[in-house]
Amino acid sequence: MTVDDLKALVRTVPDFPAPGIQFRDITTLIAHGAGLSAAIGHMADHVRRAGAEAIAGMEARGFIFGAAVAVHEGLGFIPVRKPGKLPVPTIGVDYALEYGTDRLEIDPTAVGQGERIVIVDDLIATGGTALAAIELLRSAGAVVDRAVFAIDLPDLGGAERLRRAGVEVDALMAFE
Ligand code: 5GP
Repeated sequence: MTVDDLKALVRTVPDFPAPGIQFRDITTLIAHGAGLSAAIGHMADHVRRAGAEAIAGMEARGFIFGAAVAVHEGLGFIPVRKPGKLPVPTIGVDYALEYGTDRLEIDPTAVGQGERIVIVDDLIATGGTALAAIELLRSAGAVVDRAVFAIDLPDLGGAERLRRAGVEVDALMAFE
């Protein structure tokens, strides 16, 4: 399947989660067997070129894409979790949302010192979520210089923010 075919499988939902926002919904993409398989294959190509030693994905949609890419490449997967979910001592970071703040946590013992970890998520918008995950993984000793997304929303500037933080971004498709 071409990237245009994959783009056609993403559903746009107007006014979710708030008026004026066009939500790019990947439910329809992952429900399509050939579409999901092609998306994971293309994302795995980027991950392989990046020389990844492990994959990290953010709860919850990053678990779908990240774990599938990790299995595809025979790599381990590190879950970047919402607060209070991990049963062991964690390190965490608070980050700003448009309204309020959120928090991500990891088990630092899941990260090898100097391990090259590639971030995988469904979508990058402002980049705040990915930057928080990058900060956490780096503070646990990882090398993070690459992130792979199914979808980029370039108007929101996230990929550019990541590049300024030393992280190159690959995305299968963009919605302007
Ligand atoms: P950011 O932190 O880059 O502003 O937002 C990206 C995070 O929010 C990702 O984890 C992504 O799953 C979620 N997100 C934000 N907007 C959308 C959207 O339009 N569609 C989907 N599928 N996820 C979104």
